[in-house]
Amino acid sequence: MFKSVLVANRGEIARRIFRTARRMGIATVAVYSEADAQSAHVREADHAILIGPPAARDSYLRADAVLAAAQDSGAEAIHPGYGFLSENADFAEAVLAAGLIWIGPPAKVISAMGRKDAAKALMIKAGVPVTPGYLGEDQDAENLQAEAARIGYPLLIKAVAGGGGKGMRRVETADGFLSALTSCRREAAAGFGDDRVLIEKYISTPRHIEVQVFGDQAGRVVHLFERDCSLQRRHQKVIEEAPAPGMTLAVREAVTTAAVRAAQAVGYVGAGTIEFIADAGEGLRADRIWFMEMNTRLQVEHPVTEAVTGVDLVEWQFRVAAGERLPLTQDEIKLSGHAIEARLYAENPASGFLPSIGTLEHFQLPDGVRVDSAVEEGDEVSPFYDPMIAKLIAHAQTREGASDLLAEACASVEIWPVKANAGFLARCLDHPDFIAGKVDTGFIENRLADLAQRPAPSAALQTLAAAALMASDQGEINDPWSALTGFRLNAPPPSELRIYVDGEPFDAPMSDEDFEADLLVLNDASVLFEGGEAFAVSSRPPVRDPASLAAGNGEIRSPMPGKVVSVSANLGDKVLKGQVILVLEAMKMEHTLIAPFDGIIEALAVSTGDQVSEGVALARLKADIA
Ligand code: ADP
Ligand code: ADP
Ligand code: MG
Repeated sequence: MFKSVLVANRGEIARRIFRTARRMGIATVAVYSEADAQSAHVREADHAILIGPPAARDSYLRADAVLAAAQDSGAEAIHPGYGFLSENADFAEAVLAAGLIWIGPPAKVISAMGRKDAAKALMIKAGVPVTPGYLGEDQDAENLQAEAARIGYPLLIKAVAGGGGKGMRRVETADGFLSALTSCRREAAAGFGDDRVLIEKYISTPRHIEVQVFGDQAGRVVHLFERDCSLQRRHQKVIEEAPAPGMTLAVREAVTTAAVRAAQAVGYVGAGTIEFIADAGEGLRADRIWFMEMNTRLQVEHPVTEAVTGVDLVEWQFRVAAGERLPLTQDEIKLSGHAIEARLYAENPASGFLPSIGTLEHFQLPDGVRVDSAVEEGDEVSPFYDPMIAKLIAHAQTREGASDLLAEACASVEIWPVKANAGFLARCLDHPDFIAGKVDTGFIENRLADLAQRPAPSAALQTLAAAALMASDQGEINDPWSALTGFRLNAPPPSELRIYVDGEPFDAPMSDEDFEADLLVLNDASVLFEGGEAFAVSSRPPVRDPASLAAGNGEIRSPMPGKVVSVSANLGDKVLKGQVILVLEAMKMEHTLIAPFDGIIEALAVSTGDQVSEGVALARLKADIA
């Protein structure tokens, strides 16, 4: 076994790989960008080496800087994590050429599976059923349209080099084909440097089922059962589980056999995932599940597989890369219980899932579940990378047990002042259809209004807030602005108290009971947590905040640093409330900025491609009084 490993990544995956390395007595080397100098993965590593400025292309995506860091630190092996350089065949080759151990499949396997069209062609050859569609070389728009007609609508146009849910367009009817093709190509060229596309039949009632495979250097391949990753938002996974709900032995046999055959066909080494799409209209059926793509790396959701098999997949990666044989044979790998993972993102579901950045002044994650976290209390969520800050993984004997445990864990997350999706995750997990295992990739989209909206604070929370505010306000009884004027210690307690929760008035029911209110007081805010949501409470009416004034005067400002990816209105245009003005890309996601009211575009300060910092005025709207 090698004695030291460099992790060419950041955040939770770097920390998770270090954990296994430490347990195995392997020294750890971190690389980091200027934005991550204080981050947890740097603090925890034995050595840490700065590789460049914050932007990923100047640091975590720079193969030369990572290799130089390996040479400087004397690291013997490189683990790429996921994202960044993990599926970059040139990087894998350069690592080997530098005399280092590459913890991943051979470069030629990465390139064979990296393009969705080439991968599908290979799978057809290996006898694995693939999603019906067109993979052809002829990229002429007319030809593609003719192929689309042959395949039938609805369909998906996918960038052959795409990933992370990007470079994909669903087309409902022939009318929409050409414009979708144009925009898909544009996104593919900008995002992946390759504008070629393939076409796939859109599978109805789709479920995302994937199989974890593992190969060693002697050509042995095993699978570690399946995961279901159907709970997605914009084609990106949110909640994943193992095994798949409603899985039958026959379907499991079909997908795992196909996955192992696929991995063997390409000479796979290390951890990999074969993704399938199933038409679950009539439950899972062996003849309605097709190969979609292969990911030649460890997957974000690998912990659910670890939980149900008891295998440490990173340890296996280390062993296989060091030339050892797979620790277990297929017969020795057993499935035990059920595991579910939820991805905690620094984002606000109530405002269109806008990412949230800043200092985690308060950050408490639950006990009783596995926590793979990128950050600790006091750390920063920076605007430069993925907004995923932690993963929570519950394991229990039954699916119901695991979902109960995870829902409770998500509901007890406490984060302030950064916004997070913990309440949203808890609501997904508590939803009767989720509990019944009725999941498909439209689950979140179809119930978005219910799931994204934060419920009002409960009466119990209001009572608690009132009691706590009253106790903390007693020193300020003469303050004319205080809602508590008139409160006297020897008078009978009032039955209601006017309080403000995030600026909104509530008449909180008072109680005679003595409350141990766990009010968190931070700087100028008093906060209570409930159901994974943070509620800022006050006994005073709100001072109007500049952000709401900004919306009122028609100023559209950039909510965070990012890049303008499209501008859909021109100077002087009449727009309606809710109409899209421009789309900003930040933290790897697109954010749509809309007109706050009906009006006329009076100023437009940016155009497509512009880089903007936080708070910059992008456009201004004048109310349309006519
Ligand atoms: P998966 O299929 O495993 O969910 P994706 O296809 O979504 O994975 O791609 C992996 C994603 O992992 C990348 O797109 C990126 O957003 C994310 N990622 C990369 N590095 C990190 C990291 N250090 N911490 C968290 N997420 C990361
Ligand atoms: P990426 O490389 O971005 O992960 P995938 O090809 O794995 O792209 O697709 C991402 C998601 O898009 C899938 O998990 C699934 O939800 C949806 N999807 C992909 N192909 C199809 C299809 N043919 N029919 C229905 N949904 C699909
Ligand atoms: Mg995928």
